[in-house]
Amino acid sequence: MAQVSRLPEFVSRNPGSIEVICGPMFSGKTEELIRRLRRAQIARQRVFCFKPSRDTRYADADIVSHSAQHLSSIPVSSAVEIESFLNNQSLLPDVLGIDEVQFFDDRIVGIADAMAGQGVRVIVAGLDLDYRAEPFGPMPRLLAISESVTKVLAVCIACGAPASRSQRVAHDCRVDAQSKDRVLVGATDAYEARCRRCFIDGVDTPSLPNVN
Ligand code: ADP
Ligand code: MG
Ligand code: ZN
Repeated sequence: MAQVSRLPEFVSRNPGSIEVICGPMFSGKTEELIRRLRRAQIARQRVFCFKPSRDTRYADADIVSHSAQHLSSIPVSSAVEIESFLNNQSLLPDVLGIDEVQFFDDRIVGIADAMAGQGVRVIVAGLDLDYRAEPFGPMPRLLAISESVTKVLAVCIACGAPASRSQRVAHDCRVDAQSKDRVLVGATDAYEARCRRCFIDGVDTPSLPNVN
């Protein structure tokens, strides 16, 4: 009977990797992260997913996309919390997902690198640029050390072109009754996906109706 030949240990062992999913807001980063993690779960791999605890949109312990897909995650307040959580586990995960990775400090780079070095498939999703279109926190270094980069684009809210920027828009712009001046009340900020042409550096204040 023919014998099934076994691969040598150094070939069969997963070498570990870092995959980065990046792009502006609403570009589908969280959807893509959820898609990859779900496939790993279907393959019965051990999957952990973390997110910064400040991201409490929609659900506390889930990562949730703007299209309401969700996956359970572990909210953490810092990069080292991820490290200590993993150190307390008897087994490392096969796949480690991190959403909104741009909010962590630079220590996340060393942690992702160390995990990948131990054979873990690390998948991180985050904004590559902040609202000024400047590289966001640890993203440049994560992009540089990764094995795979997927850049996703949103749809520009102003013109419909592919959008690579996150525009900060000031809402609650009202007219002061006495002076008839335009004033910013509360200045709650919101974000819109915009293309290069429609992006305005800084905060875009929506034009107000004529008050005269
Ligand atoms: P991200 O994590 O990049 O912010 P999500 O994965 O949470 O994005 O959400 C992507 C989904 O957001 C899209 O599939 C679509 O349903 C919705 N969406 C809302 N606004 C936009 C937009 N301007 N461009 C593209 N998708 C948008
Ligand atoms: Mg997201
Ligand atoms: Zn545009």
